[in-house]
Amino acid sequence: MSGIVHGVTGDWEIVIGLEVHAQVIASAKLFSGAATAFGAAPNSQVSLVDAALPGMLPVINRRCVEQAIRTGLGLKAQINRHSVFDRKNYFYADSPAGYQISQYKQPIVGRGTIQIDLPDGSVREVGITRLHLEQDAGKSLHDQHPDSSYVDLNRAGIALMEIVSEPDLRSPEEAGAYLRKLRAILRYLGTCDGDMEKGSMRADVNVSVRRPGDPYGTRCEIKNVNSIRFVQQAIEVEAARQVAVIEDGGKVEQETRLFDARKGETRPMRNKEEAHDYRYFPDPDLLPLTFSQEWVEEIKRSLPELPDEKKARFARDYGLAPYDAGVLVDERATADFFEAVAEGRDAKQAANWVMGDLFGALNKAGTDIGHSPVSAEHLGQLLDLMADGTISGRIAKDVFVAMFETGKAPAAIVEEKGLRQVTDSGAIAAVVDQVIAQNPDKVAEYRSGKDKLFGFFVGQAMKASGGKANPQAVNQLLREKLKG
Ligand code: ADP
Ligand code: MG
Repeated sequence: MSGIVHGVTGDWEIVIGLEVHAQVIASAKLFSGAATAFGAAPNSQVSLVDAALPGMLPVINRRCVEQAIRTGLGLKAQINRHSVFDRKNYFYADSPAGYQISQYKQPIVGRGTIQIDLPDGSVREVGITRLHLEQDAGKSLHDQHPDSSYVDLNRAGIALMEIVSEPDLRSPEEAGAYLRKLRAILRYLGTCDGDMEKGSMRADVNVSVRRPGDPYGTRCEIKNVNSIRFVQQAIEVEAARQVAVIEDGGKVEQETRLFDARKGETRPMRNKEEAHDYRYFPDPDLLPLTFSQEWVEEIKRSLPELPDEKKARFARDYGLAPYDAGVLVDERATADFFEAVAEGRDAKQAANWVMGDLFGALNKAGTDIGHSPVSAEHLGQLLDLMADGTISGRIAKDVFVAMFETGKAPAAIVEEKGLRQVTDSGAIAAVVDQVIAQNPDKVAEYRSGKDKLFGFFVGQAMKASGGKANPQAVNQLLREKLKG
């Protein structure tokens, strides 16, 4: 899955720009007071404004504006204190007004950037073109009746932020990294829950191909892709399709396409409409949107530490590798959990346990860190038990498994199961003597120069002690006693 397509006539570079629709977290809609809760009974959250009854007037929801500014600040973007709402005219059964209120020439947020983290540890800046506010449409239900479609307007009028990137992305991986970072920023900010499964974040994927160094080629826009994996697959198959078209002597037509995940292909949906087809004009029911710089500053002061800053701090203060730091800050809950474990302890060890054993167990159990049966406090205590020699690293793995199963504190499990490390040299010597007595042939071989057998004796002694013997003490005693 690289950014280069090897065609029959040579290599092609993929160029990608993303338009993400992110549903704003707000209890009411963009221009009405109707509720926005997910999963409510159809048409139970529809005001007369959302239903577009004649004479109804939209009133801007201050909270949605604040969320857009907050997001703009999180994207290090230009905040436009003067912006304009336009009508984008088109007919669709689930859009009763016959137009969508959106922003066109004068959006609330202008240019910004997102820093993406790549698996090799490098980072890249991707340009944000703009962010504007617009209304979501309702939903047509085609599977409720054999020969009619139903319309649910609960979603109609909910505030969306459309976040448009520059065509700066060059591979499916980069597109994935971009979406993960954008989602992380939105979640840290609390402006969108980023849940692609519920449709609260969806991506339109623009793809073109070119010979490296050439100007941009003609793009196709793949609409409404609803998972990061599908975005990456869609890019891959669409780029391959375009290369095949061009190499066959054809031309890529600018059009809107759909991705069929089941068939693993994109297919045409409609010819690309031009902006003038929408007959954009300023919505006469709404004044231009203006607000003070003081308000922007006030919102700025309330921003949390964002993923990139946290990542830099983790790398600097805890000495973590940049990529590991990036993984830990991806979710705020994970970052907080890690910090609670690392506080006053070996941070690298804390990071390894969180990203290794804990992530592994959570994954296997199909749950997330918010529901972890092992608390940060308990994981920290486990690290302490290793540090003070109460248990070995080997035993700690078993204790962790029991902690995950029972939710109990590590000390309780160690006592219950009698897992305390044996450091008493008399007891360890007895085990070592027993191993030597039971393996006379191996002892002879070892003494005649087969050094590699040492590991065998260590293994036997650890096993005989039920893993509880202090490994250093076992090593030391074995060396002495095997000398003969
Ligand atoms: P529209 O409003 O018609 O969708 P825009 O000019 O706003 O068009 O661009 C939409 C998206 O397409 C942006 O994310 C942009 O980065 C991307 N884009 C523009 N040109 C190309 C191209 N040649 N290849 C891939 N993506 C492109
Ligand atoms: Mg578009």
